[in-house]
Amino acid sequence: MIYLDHAAATPVSERVFEAMKSYFSVDFFNPSAAYLPAKKVAADYENAKAMIGHAIGAKANDIVITAGATEANNLALNVTTSPILFLVTEHDSVRKVAEQYGGEAIAVDKNGRILLEDLKSKITDETMLISVSLVNNELGVIQPLSEIAAIIRDIRFDRLKRGIKTPLYLHSDASQAMNLLDVNVARLGVDLMTLNAAKVYGPKGVGALYVAHGVKLQPLTRGGGQENGLRSGTENVPGVVGFATAIAEAKEHINGNRKKYAAWRKILLSELHDYELINKKHALDNFVVLCYNGIDAERLVFLLEEKGIYVSTGAACAASKGVRSHVLVAIGLSDEEIAGSLRLTMGETNTEEQIREAAKTINEVVAKERARVTG
Ligand code: PLP
Repeated sequence: MIYLDHAAATPVSERVFEAMKSYFSVDFFNPSAAYLPAKKVAADYENAKAMIGHAIGAKANDIVITAGATEANNLALNVTTSPILFLVTEHDSVRKVAEQYGGEAIAVDKNGRILLEDLKSKITDETMLISVSLVNNELGVIQPLSEIAAIIRDIRFDRLKRGIKTPLYLHSDASQAMNLLDVNVARLGVDLMTLNAAKVYGPKGVGALYVAHGVKLQPLTRGGGQENGLRSGTENVPGVVGFATAIAEAKEHINGNRKKYAAWRKILLSELHDYELINKKHALDNFVVLCYNGIDAERLVFLLEEKGIYVSTGAACAASKGVRSHVLVAIGLSDEEIAGSLRLTMGETNTEEQIREAAKTINEVVAKERARVTG
């Protein structure tokens, strides 16, 4: 098997799995219980949250653990009933919630980068929240968050001068970022940030929301008051210990991985034939998004699976529902280009040999398919 869909899911690493194990069976106690072994579990949980916070330059108390990034995004957007501005290419867990609140989309250029002038023109005195992902999950495109944060700072200052009390927050979904970027909340200038364990070789169904001091959110779940009252429910101790370990492991590998994926991306782009590269600029190196004009990429996915190669068309979830990717529409691709687009995302399961092998097989499958289509 050659797995080239790491943006959809990553396997739990050996180290993460080991770190989690004891919390399922030996140290299974409810962290809220009064006896000593439970207090030890509570301390381990807090320590794991501190590790997650430390990795992004925040404190344990700024971190709200959630059951995945979808939930963290929903919680972040629960800040306000006033319209939210969101990047048109956001994941559905941002887009659908923002739309529910009458949100307005900010446009992107043909590379998928935010159009800052469009953002500026859409901010009004009522705007309380702007949501822009750090890395897009379909293109791997990195957004200039610190530039956006600078615009927001100017607007806050202007509001202050004019006596307008409405706050303005910047939220970023960083689900796809932690493997290759050093994510620091102060450097990025975010007030709210979503993290996702499932994309960094941690367990699925575990995420976190960074909440800067002073940002007021509405709870998503009410009950026992865990996570500062914002997300009640017994703590997922193994999940969070796994998440903290995964983030620490990812950080150790950032530099090596950057070099490795840059080299592999070059190999793919030079060895593959007959394609158009979609994510040309500002993309993480492990994302290669291609278009095979005139070819049905969904068929390619099935044909490649038969050869043991797992890839995806556009976004994995959009593809399974048979809808056109809103991201590829937003960057101006035609219906034909969207139909022929393939996303390859490299990761820890790959080797250089696999990358070369995948390029060779993709070339063969595409050539056969082209011959079939053109008769
Ligand atoms: N945000 C981004 C950018 C993602 O890539 C994903 C997962 O595909 C999510 C949010 C949702 O994550 P989850 O399904 O783990 O809640």
